[in-house]
Amino acid sequence: MPHIQQLAPHVADLIAAGEVVERPASVVKELVENAIDAGATAIVTEIRRGGMGMIRVTDNGCGIAPEELPTAFLRHATSKMRSAEDLGKIGTLGFRGEALAAISAVSRLDILSRQTGAQSGAALHLEGGVPGDVRECGAPEGTTITVSDLFYNTPARLKFMKKDSAETAAVAGLMQHLALSHPDISFKFIKDGQDTLHTPGDGKLESAVYAALGRDFAKSLVAVEGCGGEVEVKGFVTAPLMGRGSRSMQVFFVNGRFIKSQLLTAALEEGYRNQIMKGKFPGCVLCVTLPAELVDVNVHPAKTQVKFAREKEVFDAVYHTVMDCLDGRGRTAEPVKAVEQAMNPRGDFFRTMDAKTYREEAAKPAAKPAVQPAPATPKKPVWDTERKKSVAVADVVQKPAGYQAFRPLEKPAGAAFGKPPASVTGRKEEAPAAGQPVPALKPEREEAPRPQPVQERRPIIPAIPQETLELPEQQTIEPRQEAPWRIAGEVLNTYIVCESEDGCVYLIDKHAAHERVNFDRLKAAAEPPMRQTLLAPIVAELTREDGALLLENAALLEQFGFACEDFGDSAVLVREVPADIDAADTVSTLEEFAENLRRGRDLNEKRENLLHTMACKAAIKGGWVSDRKELEVLVEKVQRGEVKYCPHGRPVAVKLTKYELEKMFKRA
Ligand code: ADP
Ligand code: MG
Repeated sequence: MPHIQQLAPHVADLIAAGEVVERPASVVKELVENAIDAGATAIVTEIRRGGMGMIRVTDNGCGIAPEELPTAFLRHATSKMRSAEDLGKIGTLGFRGEALAAISAVSRLDILSRQTGAQSGAALHLEGGVPGDVRECGAPEGTTITVSDLFYNTPARLKFMKKDSAETAAVAGLMQHLALSHPDISFKFIKDGQDTLHTPGDGKLESAVYAALGRDFAKSLVAVEGCGGEVEVKGFVTAPLMGRGSRSMQVFFVNGRFIKSQLLTAALEEGYRNQIMKGKFPGCVLCVTLPAELVDVNVHPAKTQVKFAREKEVFDAVYHTVMDCLDGRGRTAEPVKAVEQAMNPRGDFFRTMDAKTYREEAAKPAAKPAVQPAPATPKKPVWDTERKKSVAVADVVQKPAGYQAFRPLEKPAGAAFGKPPASVTGRKEEAPAAGQPVPALKPEREEAPRPQPVQERRPIIPAIPQETLELPEQQTIEPRQEAPWRIAGEVLNTYIVCESEDGCVYLIDKHAAHERVNFDRLKAAAEPPMRQTLLAPIVAELTREDGALLLENAALLEQFGFACEDFGDSAVLVREVPADIDAADTVSTLEEFAENLRRGRDLNEKRENLLHTMACKAAIKGGWVSDRKELEVLVEKVQRGEVKYCPHGRPVAVKLTKYELEKMFKRA
């Protein structure tokens, strides 16, 4: 490695100022990136108490010469660039020469380093940035930096530190990304004396994915590879039917650097257009490689964002790589899952509890009011593999001519009518995607307006004292005998078309309507939702941050019907799930929950967000084939005016009057 020198002031001034030491994770990031830049093949990171107790990073890289040890801790001292021109083609992770100076200024730091091939090593201790004497001593080749008492001299910063567990999770998440970005390096992460991550460093991305993100996620991936212009794209994406509940499993690297990028997310998701279920997000570990001069990494202090010189070229390369690889696989390879997606896997979306079961439920001892043992449940049990198989076989054998249920939807529902004026539909105009290099990202969760007041609120299991038990009212709502409306049919497996007595046509989004019904029901419930104990607990492999967040909130999740336990590393063991939710949706629901918890500003908002997710997960989905009776219940609710907006504020129904229709056809 070249000598470490302080940058000339005019070069230093060109560098985006970096607040490098915000929390322990930022220290770990800088130290590990230095080790990577030093050419290490094995890096061990150890932290105690979320890094507030101690952070130690050991590498077997090139080391630092004893006489240069103090220089490394000066501001703007770096061996990685010299001139302003170098800034245009940065190939190393570090380049500002600020990290060691900044870290040592707010901690007690020890460095021990021996250059490759040198006879002996040297050690240096710094306290609040003030160096002691360089001491010669024995050391393995490479560098070890130990940071203790972080922020000991900046009490204000100390006060803002989150709980140790939150800091640990942040470091753990970071280590996952670093390990994935360099499959050729063996990473080990030890927290509070416990080994939690160890990648082999065999150069294979799949080995790193397996070790860092878990077996289940690794199994859901398909390999993609392609290039466009000077942009190469390589890595793994989730198979279309293995969509995730949030974007947390989208991991992008640009020239080996973990970054967050709306452009890359949009390109990835465009690649899945019409292939992934609504509300699901693809996961990925994608490495984008392009000439260093085509990407500017000097735009963000934490270096987690980049600017591409040719955005369209990057977008197209990712989009085409993903789309071509997904198409090439052909979906015939996965007939079982294709059916699972299209059918309503639960079958009973609204409550069909009969009187007998109701009484049994209500008569149960108060200690366990919400738990419903799986075998005795009158509700549909967990969607099991047997049933999936049988459906799949039936489909293959008896597929009727012209059967189109599983076709991806090509056009928005309004297309058949021509675009009705926004004032008629009440929907917002959607920005056309065509011709735009970067389509706007669909938000994972939209801003929810205050829920509409609900007239009738009925608890899930009304708390009726046992003595006064009478035959309870069924929870299902039967359509009136002579309803003033008629269902004309369902289009695109998503919208119910319905005609009312007074000559109006309604298009009803069945998922949105059902989501609202669920939301109101859950919100009004006096007790936690009924739970079902899973015969085999589910091991949910999540990102470390998500896992930690969920476990921290285990008591809250319990109120929502999930019994979760720590299962080591980032895995969470789920023993019970709400009876309302398909067990196959457990992992995606938990991922969304984690996002809900992260975003909620206070407990109330978090609860509300969790309710949204529950309502959505328990709802029939657009694209599923629904039972006529299910549709009738929804139409009845809409016609009674009980359901107007989905919990995210989108309209549930679009009404076209006879006059409006006639106007469209130029009859009026
Ligand atoms: P930068 O990484 O931006 O150059 P740093 O303050 O992080 O700045 O590090 C200063 C210099 O110290 C680096 O340029 C590098 O020469 C040297 N250095 C830091 N950490 C290591 C390490 N683990 N192994 C070898 N050299 C290192
Ligand atoms: Mg550095």
